[in-house]
Amino acid sequence: MSKGPVIQGDYRPVALQRVGEAKLLIQWSDGHRSEYAWRWLRENCPCATCREHRVTTTSAQQSGITTAGSGGKISLAVVHAGEVAGSPYQAVSVTPVGRYAYKIVWADGHDTGIYSFELLRQLCQCSDCRSLSAWANQGDA
Ligand SMILES: [Zn+2]
Ligand SMILES: [Zn+2]
Repeated sequence: MSKGPVIQGDYRPVALQRVGEAKLLIQWSDGHRSEYAWRWLRENCPCATCREHRVTTTSAQQSGITTAGSGGKISLAVVHAGEVAGSPYQAVSVTPVGRYAYKIVWADGHDTGIYSFELLRQLCQCSDCRSLSAWANQGDA
């Protein structure tokens, strides 16, 4: 068995697994196993709207996020109503976009976030990655 060097950027998801209602697991081609809380992914949504939202609303408001459009029409065909009650942080679907990213559609109808593989690796919450970064300060409240 030869252990070649890990080539930066040469990874892609080989399996996605939904764990309970709160978590997503991604198995990567390089052997890494990432875990994410859906909420964490949503809070780090890379779309322009969410980025602006995060800039204009400071952390003071983070637990009571309400969006102006939340009363609008949404499509929840794939998810049972009970599954998403009280949580906009549930994903309805995760779909590959090209060969480099996933699009996540959320229970509140938000679907403009494209999560590149690179971003997903940066957001990884597994214990290895958390010990390497400052993420551990977040999300344990
Ligand atoms: Zn977004
Ligand atoms: Zn990790």
